[in-house]
Amino acid sequence: MRKKVLIIHTGGTFAMVLGSGQTATKQHSSNLLENLLQQIPELASLAEIDLKVICNIDSSDVTIDIWKLLAKTIFESWSQCDGFVVVHGTDTMAWTASALAFFLGGLTKPVVFTGAQRPLTALRSDARMNMIDAVELATHGIPEVMICFDSKVHRATRATKYSNEHLYAYKSYNSPKIGSFGVNIKLNKKVLNSILPEAKRHAPSINSEINGNITSLMCVPGAIPSLTFIDGLLSSTEGIIIQGFGAGNLPISGKIWLELFERALDRKIPIVISTQCESGSVDLQLYENGRRFAALGGISALDMTFEAASVKLMIMLGRKIPFEKRQSFFATPLAFECQSIDSIPSI
Ligand code: ASP
Repeated sequence: MRKKVLIIHTGGTFAMVLGSGQTATKQHSSNLLENLLQQIPELASLAEIDLKVICNIDSSDVTIDIWKLLAKTIFESWSQCDGFVVVHGTDTMAWTASALAFFLGGLTKPVVFTGAQRPLTALRSDARMNMIDAVELATHGIPEVMICFDSKVHRATRATKYSNEHLYAYKSYNSPKIGSFGVNIKLNKKVLNSILPEAKRHAPSINSEINGNITSLMCVPGAIPSLTFIDGLLSSTEGIIIQGFGAGNLPISGKIWLELFERALDRKIPIVISTQCESGSVDLQLYENGRRFAALGGISALDMTFEAASVKLMIMLGRKIPFEKRQSFFATPLAFECQSIDSIPSI
């Protein structure tokens, strides 16, 4: 039987029109479906296509309300479609795709994010091939939120935008790709085997409880936050994520970072420690500079991407996970964002 795919448009470069030089601007939303099917008529041979435009924005302007609306739109059309393609700007696609992977439980159908580095109408645009691959992938029944870009298929929670120059814009970190497109689609059997049995266990569900009141900091050697900054931060934010060095190390000399953790612990404000490294896992037990912060309640982002870890922090706050369960919540995979670990540091 002919498969039905719902394409949900949110914006980004994909459907922009070219201005002078390299500039791209938004086109009117009402023309989007007509233009898409005119430019890529092959889509009709892959599936019956429907299109919904939920917004048409640069993805830097995406909000958690848009993540929720997207999840609701997919959930409401669940029984009518075989798969979903989300057109999204590349800049923040990994956050939205991670949020959807956390929101949608018991997936039984594919949700495929795609976009483009150059608009559909541009010379040497990647939009056309990305869309054909994404729609084809959406007919393949893989029950997972994925990013399909430049012929590669990534798990939503393992992908990060790697380049704003190459058409190869996304990479998977700390986890193999789900597959790739060449002459045929090649899917990674090992990854698929890990998905399928789990998907059969639940009925599809949606849980979009989330709290966006978090702050992200990146550690720079020699840059010292002031006490005034720390006070202001702790009185205005409910969760913090810090990108430390290497295995999650932060400065202990000068004591200011330790002070931040002590004060946050007093107020039960969670601090997640992530890393500036692209790959590899945070291990707070490896060095004294990690152990000191783990002892003050620092939560390891483990091998999660920064995108998945920051969204998971928002979800932990949104679901009001009690203080004593936060470490284990963070260390437990919800949507393949991390590997499970047996030992969780106690504080
Ligand atoms: N600024 C654009 C966006 O993320 C970039 C893109 O779509 O590639 O919306």
